[in-house]
Amino acid sequence: MQSLTVLGSTGSIGKSTLDVVSRQQDKFNVFALTANRNLDLLVEQASSCNPKYIVAANKEDYASLADKSRTAGLNCEVLTGEDALVDVAQATEVHQVMAAIVGAAGLLPTLAAAKAGKRVLLANKEALVMSGQLLIDTVNQSGAELLPIDSEHNAIFQCLPEKFSYGQLQKSGISKILLTGSGGPFLSNTIDSLYDVTVEQACAHPNWSMGRKISVDSATMMNKGLEFIEACRLFGVSSQQIDVVIHPQSVIHSMVQYNDGSVLAQLGNPDMRTPIAHGLAFPERIESGVKPLDFSTICDFTFQLPDYEKFPNLKLAIQACDSGEAATTSLNAANEVAVDAFLNEQIKYTDISLINDFVLQQANIEALDSLDMILACDAKARQLASSKVSELSQC
Ligand code: NAD
Ligand code: MG
Repeated sequence: MQSLTVLGSTGSIGKSTLDVVSRQQDKFNVFALTANRNLDLLVEQASSCNPKYIVAANKEDYASLADKSRTAGLNCEVLTGEDALVDVAQATEVHQVMAAIVGAAGLLPTLAAAKAGKRVLLANKEALVMSGQLLIDTVNQSGAELLPIDSEHNAIFQCLPEKFSYGQLQKSGISKILLTGSGGPFLSNTIDSLYDVTVEQACAHPNWSMGRKISVDSATMMNKGLEFIEACRLFGVSSQQIDVVIHPQSVIHSMVQYNDGSVLAQLGNPDMRTPIAHGLAFPERIESGVKPLDFSTICDFTFQLPDYEKFPNLKLAIQACDSGEAATTSLNAANEVAVDAFLNEQIKYTDISLINDFVLQQANIEALDSLDMILACDAKARQLASSKVSELSQC
């Protein structure tokens, strides 16, 4: 029996994780669930999976969560605050941690799980983009396992040779990693039409149902940019070894191209329960609830190159990836601030890449050797991005 902490259980990935776990009750039990604001859903989830702990990220929510928990007749312990997120991620009883908090807020508990030698199921790509080598080094030092849940990286992981060692593409006979992306809801829009897009349009992804921040990232293609950086870090490869391929149907989740001309791809319906089940059970395979692909109904299977002019964020991310960790940390922080401002209707969709560009141009090229340096770099970029948001929101 594997004991699981789900960081961010009330989000899109968290809910899909609990769905998979509910189908596999002989294999997994839930140790802790965590949430930011949606305390009602947290309590509802706890009623059906009976964890030992439920955690709200904000300390001021203690009384409210304790009250809701009592009313629902739960017999789990209520904890609150950032320290509690770290505690349930590193607890001795836990085997696996689903890192599904969105954004930089997930970094500390994810690092704690890695340091404590857990199997870390990494959905929270921002944690890896901002922490860079630190998370990878922490995993290597503690003997933790880092398994990619992002569908593209999970696909790449499935297509790599079993004995692939970090960074050894050539030795494994691999010529390229082909990172696929749907192109998001604005793939066919003209550049001019992007100026006026609404939050609702940006959040309406054609193939995937996701949280709001990643939905906007998909619409600006920053998601593909963050995934580009994520792939470099997870597999130890350089930016020259990855090509982005637009595949609007989201049936191929990514590919690995070998020197002999073979290309291995992982296919499936666009449903995150597949990579989640893969990570939870690895190296075994379990039932995830995802319908099998029906090739009699798949009409088109198309590919195109990314349009960097229409989606400048993708270019910025590749540039940041080549510049180093201060650049990737700064870009991630700027983007979180900009997306939040867009979701709150303070700025326009097209301002997001302006803010990201502005902050990235001012990023240092220094190496970030410690957690303190990473957090300082993140804070500085957030400040710069916020000042640009204020300026643009007055236009
Ligand atoms: P979501 O917004 O639906 O859920 C986010 C979760 O994080 C919620 O449980 C929320 O309560 C929690 N949270 C938010 N802010 C927090 C804070 N400050 N402190 C503690 N908890 C906080 O997001 P999602 O779509 O589930 O995505 C989660 C992560 O997984 C993101 O990093 C995203 O990029 C990644 N991811 C998501 C998908 C997807 O299909 N949804 C696919 C690949 C990767
Ligand atoms: Mg993805």
